[in-house]
Amino acid sequence: MAGGAYNWANGSELAEEMSAEAAGKNLKLNRFPTYCEVCFWKCAGWVHTDEKGNIVKIIGNDEDLHCNGRLCPRGTGGIGMYNDEDRLKTPLIRTTENGQQTFREASWDEAFDLIAKKYQEIKQKYGAETIAGFFHGSPGSHLGHLLHAFGSHTEAHPSYAQCRGPREVAFAATYGSGVGSPEPTDIRDTRCLVLIGSHIGENMHNGQVQEMADAIDNGATIITVDPRFSTAASKSKFWLPIKPSTDLALLLAWINVIINEELYDKDFVEKNTYGFDELKEHVSKMTPEWAYGITTLEPALIRKTAHEMASAAPSVIVHPGRHVTWYGDDTQRERAIAILNGLLGSWGRRGGFYFPEGMSLPNFPTPELPHPDWDWKDIHDKKYPLALLPVSNALVEASIPENNPKHLIKSWLVAGTNLPLTLPDKDQTLKAMQALEFLVVVDTMPMEITGYADVVLPECTYLERYDYIRSAPHREPNIALRMPATEPKYESKPAWWIAKHLGEKLGLQKYFPWKDIEEVLDWQLYNIGSSLEEMQRIGVKKFDRAYGAPYLVDGEDFEFNTNSGKIELYSTEMQNAGFDPLPSFTQHEEPQQGFYRLIYGRTPAHTFSRTANNPNLVDLKSEPWLWINPKVASIWGIENGQYIWLKNQDGKTTQFPIQVRVTERIRWDSVFMPHGFGHHNKRLTRAYGKGASDAELITNVKIDPVMGGTGMRSNFVTFLTEEPEMEVES
Ligand code: SF4
Repeated sequence: MAGGAYNWANGSELAEEMSAEAAGKNLKLNRFPTYCEVCFWKCAGWVHTDEKGNIVKIIGNDEDLHCNGRLCPRGTGGIGMYNDEDRLKTPLIRTTENGQQTFREASWDEAFDLIAKKYQEIKQKYGAETIAGFFHGSPGSHLGHLLHAFGSHTEAHPSYAQCRGPREVAFAATYGSGVGSPEPTDIRDTRCLVLIGSHIGENMHNGQVQEMADAIDNGATIITVDPRFSTAASKSKFWLPIKPSTDLALLLAWINVIINEELYDKDFVEKNTYGFDELKEHVSKMTPEWAYGITTLEPALIRKTAHEMASAAPSVIVHPGRHVTWYGDDTQRERAIAILNGLLGSWGRRGGFYFPEGMSLPNFPTPELPHPDWDWKDIHDKKYPLALLPVSNALVEASIPENNPKHLIKSWLVAGTNLPLTLPDKDQTLKAMQALEFLVVVDTMPMEITGYADVVLPECTYLERYDYIRSAPHREPNIALRMPATEPKYESKPAWWIAKHLGEKLGLQKYFPWKDIEEVLDWQLYNIGSSLEEMQRIGVKKFDRAYGAPYLVDGEDFEFNTNSGKIELYSTEMQNAGFDPLPSFTQHEEPQQGFYRLIYGRTPAHTFSRTANNPNLVDLKSEPWLWINPKVASIWGIENGQYIWLKNQDGKTTQFPIQVRVTERIRWDSVFMPHGFGHHNKRLTRAYGKGASDAELITNVKIDPVMGGTGMRSNFVTFLTEEPEMEVES
């Protein structure tokens, strides 16, 4: 069954028809299936190589539901990750030379020997559980298996507590299932799409962007709620320039209008929901007039937009968003979004939310993994009762001895996530890293975190490796293959190889009972009626749905996976865990005189710090802008194009300046900048010093008590037109 080593040197098995241009030059292109890793939408595509094996282009796979054959500009620019000469090239080991800490190049064997020795020592002294994993993206599944095999199930993914966690908890509490990725929003058939601080078009989640364009062509109404006139706002019928931090008041006022004016889907609500009367009573005083004083949005506009939603229902989507960790009450705000969708009857309806379905691939048989004495749940220590996944900031806190954690973490294995720029409160992250006995970092690039490591392991890019099959739920179950289009450059290696070979050094070979990942993939694919050979040929395969239609069927009962079996407008799960069963608005901190709320987001050419050094994408956008309202710029005497530094409410300043864009597209009380710039590692030759880093300014973090998410929008900045004195990180 095993596919064996693939001969990608000539790629003959996959040779495709040459393009006219290539044929004219008498070139033969080979193509190899992949799914993109420039962001985590994971669009499937084809990587084309020339006769010498050089990667010449990446295009979308026409069969793929994530991209419909079209990659976004970042996806086609993925080739820059492969060509970036700043990549990590060999394993590196920290050493001291002339009293200075530095790194020396090492062989894989030497690096693995050192890691294995340190891991065994840590296991002996403190237990394997004290080795924590921080992972983002594909390497996490391989390295997470390694840690688990060694006896640690202490791992976290920042994509939960720093991004999507609150919406998953809120939707699970309401509907009995979370949202997941890609979001099962039926945008292509919607008649009304409501975006609350959600930047479709800037976040470039490909399928959603395409579907939103189609919906607009079909006459759908777009309502965008944002203090900033975003790209989505520019395509909208209604832009609601809300006062930041007051979105929950707007949502409650919308709920009030929809109930009071009896605009809700009565049949749907009666049949499928629980707690309508309690909700009605709860919002009875939360009128648009009440919300006006909080949100600064005119009551007539709140009513008008509520009517737009109701008239489109059930083909309406109040989008749950993606990065939703803002103010610390984010689960409650997401609950209000879930409730509003419930009243409009959009769950399980065409043009609303569909029921996604995925393919389940069996795990390759291995011996049962060890059961650690404690794991991430014990680190939470009942602090975040509804957290469905580990909270990364809780693991950071548990790595700082002076916090006296119940279980002190002694070592980190970090892959694919640049924690100093990803997590809020950078000082705390640095403190935790400095307290560790041993830090191993796996990455493709010399991101800031590699500078704190004891051992750095160079992972090859997604274009040079196999990973596990992509099996994301969608309208139709489907799978996609990522395979290498070329040999890994330099001494870099795939994460599956790193996990297996390090596992063998640790005596864990029984947990890696396969020759290579091709054997695993072929076995998994065989078990669902495919094969590695087939997937190498077609890249994407779709399957029939096995669990019914993607929408509710008229006349059929549907049982939701909640305590009541209904959509819980009134959440018994929240109540049982000691939280408000119905969301309420609470006032958040306001900026002091001369300070402005810091809003951060995306620029379409980049995926945060991951792409800031990518030569192709740097060509599209090399540095960020800070958006400032003209009135504010005039007060401060700041001009368009000027470089300034930012200082936050706690006196933290940015290491590098940022260029100002004076624009009416932002409210006067806020400023906006893209996340992921301001790198201070000089080994990132294109990204170093380009723009300011928002992560340096996010020191006021509001933790969501429900699930541990880190609210990061309670930071305020003021402007420095002269370079501040500071200690420079290098
Ligand atoms: S949306 Fe763009 S960057 Fe993200 S996976 Fe798709 S092609 Fe890649």
